[in-house]
Amino acid sequence: MFRDATEQYHQDRRTLQAFSSLLTLVEALATITDQRENTMQADAASMPPITLAAAGEAFAEMTKEVLDCKYVGVFALDPPDDCQRLLGTSGLIPEEAAQLRADANHTPLVDYIDADAIAQLHANQVLLLDLKYRPFMTTRSTHGARYRLVAPMILHGKLIGIFTMAKTDEEYPTVQSAYSSQEMALAKGIAKLAAQLIERVSLLQERAQAQAIEQQLQETTRRYEDCLSTASHELRTPLTTIKGNLQLAQRRMVTLEKHAERSPESLQRLQRVEHPLREALQNFSRLERMVGELLDYSRIQADKFLLKKQPCDLIEVVRNATENACKAMGERKLLISLPPAGTVLVSADKDRIGDVVNNYLTNAHKYSSIARPIEVSLIVEELLARVLVRDEGEGIPLSEQARIWERFYRAPGIETQEYSNADSNLGLGLYLCKEIIELHGGQVGVSSMLGQGATFWFTLDLLQSTDNHNQASPQSTIT
Ligand code: ADP
Repeated sequence: MFRDATEQYHQDRRTLQAFSSLLTLVEALATITDQRENTMQADAASMPPITLAAAGEAFAEMTKEVLDCKYVGVFALDPPDDCQRLLGTSGLIPEEAAQLRADANHTPLVDYIDADAIAQLHANQVLLLDLKYRPFMTTRSTHGARYRLVAPMILHGKLIGIFTMAKTDEEYPTVQSAYSSQEMALAKGIAKLAAQLIERVSLLQERAQAQAIEQQLQETTRRYEDCLSTASHELRTPLTTIKGNLQLAQRRMVTLEKHAERSPESLQRLQRVEHPLREALQNFSRLERMVGELLDYSRIQADKFLLKKQPCDLIEVVRNATENACKAMGERKLLISLPPAGTVLVSADKDRIGDVVNNYLTNAHKYSSIARPIEVSLIVEELLARVLVRDEGEGIPLSEQARIWERFYRAPGIETQEYSNADSNLGLGLYLCKEIIELHGGQVGVSSMLGQGATFWFTLDLLQSTDNHNQASPQSTIT
C-alpha cells in the first residue's frame, strides 16, 4: 500500500514535470517565430527571413533541454518518397551531427525503418525501437544509442516529418523501460509542435519572399517611371527644334512655290517635296501628343501635375475644344448642343478641361465610322454641369468599361479607323481624363452597348446655380 502511494507520487511528479517542460517549450517556441515576425513588421528589409534549418536547430536545442536523453533529431520528410532532411539535432558532438546529417539526408523513410513502423507513424502513433533487435533497414550509425523513440509530425492529417529521441541502454534493460508513458506523450506533443513550427516558418518564408518580390516590383516600377519621365523631358527640346525647322521649311516652300509659279517644271519639283513635308509634320504632331501624354503621366505619378483653376465658362471651353477638334476631323459631322443662353460657371483649368473634351472627341472619331455623326452636349443638372460625347461606333463591352480608364490599357478587339493613324494610341488618354476631372472634384463615366456606340461623360460642380440652363438646348452642327 505504502509502495503504491510512493510510486503514484513519483509518477505524478514525472507527469507534472513532463507537462511543465512542454509548457516551457511552447513558450520558448513562440519566441522563435514571434521575434522574427515582429522584426519583419518593423524592418522587413534589414533581416533575412528565418530558415527552416535555423528554426529546426533552435527547436532541437530547446527540446534536448527538457528531455533526458543522449540526443534528439528533427527531420522533415520531403515528397514524393518521404526523403529525410535533418532540420536540427542536439546532444551530439559536431562530427556525430555531421554523420547523422549525411546518413539521413536524401534517404527515404523506407531505408530507415520497416513498413509496419512507417504505417504506425502515418497512423499518428509513437514508435519505440530497440536497434539491437530491429536495426535500421540500411546501415547507418546509431551513435552508441540503442533505443529510439520516433514521434510522427502530422500536419493537416499528413505525415510531414519525424521527431526522434535517442537513449543508451546503460540505465535501461529494455526499450519499454527506457521511455515512460509520460515521455511518450511529451514526445508526441513535441512532434506536433515541431510540425506547427515548420508550417509557421514556411508561411513566414513565403511572406518574406512575397514582400521581397513586391519591393522588387515597386523598385522596377519606380525606375521605369523615372525613365519615362526623363525620356519625355529630354525629348521635348529636340522636338521643339524639329517642329520649328519643319514649320520653317513649310513656309519657305510656300514662298518658293509662289516664285516658281511661272516655271511649271520647278513647281512640280517643289510639289513633290511638299507631300513628304506635310506627312512629316503630321507624324510630328502625333509624336508631340504622345510625348505630351507621357509627360502628363509622369507629372501625375510624381504629384507634380498642377492645375490653374479659375472661374470659367464651360460653354466656351466646350465650344472652343469642339471647334478645334473639328478642324482635324475632315468630313466628320459634329453636332453640338449647348445651353441656349448665359454662362455655365465652373472653377476649372480651362486648358485641361479642353484637353478632356478633345480626348473624348478624338476617341469618338478614332473608334467610329467617319460617315456617322458625333454629338457633344453640355447639360446643367441642379448643382452639376455634365458634358457628354456620343459616337455611333462599335461600342465597348461591359466587361471592359471599367478597365479602359486604367493607365496604358487598350481594350482588345476594338479597332481604330484607318484615318486616325496620326493619333496617340498609348492607352493613356482616358486615364489622364479621369485624373484631370477627379482633380477638379468631378466624375467620369461611359455608357455603351456593343454595336450601339458609346457615350463618354464627365461632370463638374457649378460655381452658381443657373436656372435658365434647364431649358432644352438647340442643336447646332459643326462640320
Ligand atoms: P487610346 O490611346 O488607346 O485611345 P484611351 O485611354 O483614350 O487610349 O482609350 C483606352 C481604350 O478605350 C482604347 O484603346 C479603346 O479600346 C477604348 N475606347 C476609348 N474610347 C472609345 C470609343 N469612343 N469607342 C470604343 N472604344 C473606345
